[in-house]
Amino acid sequence: MRTGGSKAFFIHTFGCQMNQADSGIITAILQQEGYSAAESEVDAGIILLNTCAVRENAVDRIEHYLQHLHGLKKRHKGLIVGLAGCVPQFQKEEMFSMFPVIDFLAGPDTYRTLPLLIEQARIGLRSSSLDFNPLETYEGIDPVRQGPLSAFVPVMRGCNNMCAFCVVPFTRGRERSHPLSSVISEVRQLVESGYREITLLGQNVNSYCEPEKGTDFATLLDAVSREAPDARIRFTTSHPKDISEALVRVIADRPNICNHIHLPVQSGSSKMLGLMNRGHTIEEYRQKIALIREKIPGVAITTDIIAGFCGEEESDHQATLDLLTDVRFDLAYMFYYSERPGTLAARTLEDDLPESLKKRRLQEIIDLQNSISDKLYQEAVGTVVEVLAESESRRSAQQLMGRTDTNRVVVFDREHYKAGDLLKVRITSSTSATLIGKPDQRADAAS
Ligand code: SF4
Repeated sequence: MRTGGSKAFFIHTFGCQMNQADSGIITAILQQEGYSAAESEVDAGIILLNTCAVRENAVDRIEHYLQHLHGLKKRHKGLIVGLAGCVPQFQKEEMFSMFPVIDFLAGPDTYRTLPLLIEQARIGLRSSSLDFNPLETYEGIDPVRQGPLSAFVPVMRGCNNMCAFCVVPFTRGRERSHPLSSVISEVRQLVESGYREITLLGQNVNSYCEPEKGTDFATLLDAVSREAPDARIRFTTSHPKDISEALVRVIADRPNICNHIHLPVQSGSSKMLGLMNRGHTIEEYRQKIALIREKIPGVAITTDIIAGFCGEEESDHQATLDLLTDVRFDLAYMFYYSERPGTLAARTLEDDLPESLKKRRLQEIIDLQNSISDKLYQEAVGTVVEVLAESESRRSAQQLMGRTDTNRVVVFDREHYKAGDLLKVRITSSTSATLIGKPDQRADAAS
């Protein structure tokens, strides 16, 4: 018997913040049914993998982990293994034949069935629950949060776009938004519990549209920021076509909405954006960036880039490098294209670039972006920034790490500060991904 007993469960979460938020929902659902969260995998009688199908390496990591669980299950009879999230939704029951260690499968819309799936696994039945439910928003479930400081609040699920490279429309279904009143009451509870940072989440967060009433994301964001005036408010992930003037105005006007927008572009070429079915041109993207920069001084913009998508020519790649140079993103998540089965691209386009070329272009993008981030971070040396302390630094117990409202990581001398403190830090040095500094009490006293 595992130390936590047969009702103890442990969740391994892969992928994005949405998956992390979903793990909080799964934990709440299981706890309501008398299951308990184990401290570690070693203590658990039930191991759940909450999975992501977006990147190839995320799927590879799941496969490696399932092989590890295969060995574990041989040594611990009665151990139950479940797969939740996007991978089973996408791969369906073939996961059972690929990985005999799996006892059950649950898709992103069926977490309420997990207790039933576990009970069936106990009596030797392998079952799956993979239906889409266009009404499921998990309203009424109070998610179990990771820590006492920062909380994710999903405000919409699914995606109505059909970007050619993306599996999300096939794994998470159509868009559906939570009622504004339920988002506000969740935020109110978080404020009462002392949370200092709230991140509104959605696959396509700024296409939020309240059922029946049609309330848009700008209105929701404004209402959330007023409900939690002392908390930092963040949101992710935004789609360029849904950045409106009203939304930019709200971010500019409300002091507690962070000056950071993650705005995936994927390519600097309109031809590639067309092939990717992104729904906008590069000129339109650049116009949105200009609007954001004009209305929100000091804003940090981050992005996602895919190198080597189907049909990309050297001139398209050069357009991406030009875009990076012009926009000066704070940071970019950069990948080379790998085909995901079943996507629009897999069905309609030829993955025609050799891997060596994709890797070469990706490396050029990474090198350029790193040099841009490096310069931007160097420019911050000598300035004083406001930091929300999050945790002990990984390198030293004498230092804390936190973030600026522009989402830059800052490592600073601990002195008497602790997680949750908001303080001024004078930046003394930098790398391409971290600012390093010391608390500046004079600036604190002056503010
Ligand atoms: S907007 Fe495009 S990339 Fe984002 S989740 Fe939807 S389909 Fe995928």
